[in-house]
Amino acid sequence: MTFVPFAKPDLSDQEFAAVRAVLESGWLTTGERVHEFEGAFAAAVGAKHAVALNSCTAALHLALDAIALRAGDEVIIPAYTFTATAEVVLYFGATPVLVDIDARTLNIDPRRVAEAVTARTKAIIPVHFGGLAADLDALRAIAEPRGIAIIDDAAHAFPSRYNGKYIGSISDITCFSFYATKTITTGEGGMLCTDNDVYAARCRLMSLHGISHDAWKRYRAEGSWYYEVVAPGFKYNMTDIAAALGLAQLRRADAMRARRQEIAERYNAAFEGHDFDLPAFGDAREHAWHIYPLRLPRGADRGVFVDALRAREIGASVHFIPLHLHPFYRDRYGFTPDSFPVSTAEYEREVSLPIYSAMSDADLDAVIGAVTAVIRGASRVLAG
Ligand SMILES: *Cc1c(COP(=O)(O)O)cnc(C)c1O
Repeated sequence: MTFVPFAKPDLSDQEFAAVRAVLESGWLTTGERVHEFEGAFAAAVGAKHAVALNSCTAALHLALDAIALRAGDEVIIPAYTFTATAEVVLYFGATPVLVDIDARTLNIDPRRVAEAVTARTKAIIPVHFGGLAADLDALRAIAEPRGIAIIDDAAHAFPSRYNGKYIGSISDITCFSFYATKTITTGEGGMLCTDNDVYAARCRLMSLHGISHDAWKRYRAEGSWYYEVVAPGFKYNMTDIAAALGLAQLRRADAMRARRQEIAERYNAAFEGHDFDLPAFGDAREHAWHIYPLRLPRGADRGVFVDALRAREIGASVHFIPLHLHPFYRDRYGFTPDSFPVSTAEYEREVSLPIYSAMSDADLDAVIGAVTAVIRGASRVLAG
C-alpha cells in the first residue's frame, strides 16, 4: 500500500519543458512569460487587468493598498479562513472584523456581515471556501450602497463561477493563489484581477518597489537605465520561471478541474447515506473543488478519525482552524470559542480528504475504502 498524500501538484511534460525554456533563455525574472501569463489569465476569468505576483497574500495586501485602507478602518472577513486574509488588514493598522459563516456552505454569512458593518467599514473580503463561491449578490447589496469595496480571497477559487460568471470578473478586486497545494500552481505565486484601471496601475506600481512603469525592462535591449521611484513599494513581482509553470498549468486548468469534480462526485456517491454531512456545492460545474470538506457527526472524535485514515496510508487535513482559536487573534481580541459558534462547531468536525487531479483511480478507491472501513470499524469515532 502506498501513501496517498493530502495534496500533490499535477505536472505534465509541458510544465517541465516550459520551465526549461525559461532557464535556457537567460532571462529568469519578470519578463515576457509574466506578461503572457497575465494576459492569458485575464482572458480566462474575463477580467480587464491581471497582475502576476509572488503570492495571494501579496495580492490581498496590494488590493487593500489600492483601496487606500488606513489605520483605524475596518475590514470584514470570515472567522473561518487562513490567517493571510486577516494579517494583511493588520499591516495597515486597520482592524479585521471577524464574522461567522453559514454552516452549510462554510462561506461568510451575509446576515452576520450586515450586522458587523459600521461607518469605518472599508472592505469585505469573502473567501470562496474550497472553491464554492460565497453569496456575492447578498454581499454586494450590503456593500454597494455604502461605498464598501469587495475584495475576493479567491485562493481556492480558480476556476470557479458564480451564477455563470467567473470569480475574478465580479468583485472590485479578486486575489488568486498559485501556492504549491492550490488548484493550479507556480510553486509560490498569486494573481490580482480587477476591471478598475486605477487599482490595476497602483497594484502594478507597488508590486515592484514603486518604480514607474515597466521597470523590469531596464535590463533589456529595449529598456533604459533611467527609472523613477514614485512610492515606497514592495517586492511582490512574479518570476518568468513561475509564470512559465503557470501558463502550462493554465492550459490544463479546465481538465484538472473536471478531474477534481469527478473525484468529488465519487466521494459524494460513496459517502451518501452514512452519518456525514457532505459538502454543499450547488452546481458542481461552478465549483473549483480545491477542498472536499467532509463533516463528521457532531461529537465524533475527529482526531481519531484522521489518525485512523493515516494508519490506512491516507493523508487528510483540516480546513480551517478558525482565526479566533489561534493564540494571536484570541488574545488580541479576547475571543472565546463561542465568539463564532458556527465556525467553531464546523471546524471541530471537518476533515478535508485528498482531492487533486494527479490522483489515480487506485488512490481514489483507496481513500473511499479507508473512509468506509473507518466508519464500519470504529464506532467510537462516529459515536457522536
Ligand atoms: C492559501 C491561502 C491564502 C494564501 O495564499 P498564498 O499564495 O500562499 O499567499 C490566502 N487565503 C486562503 C483562504 C488560502 O487558503
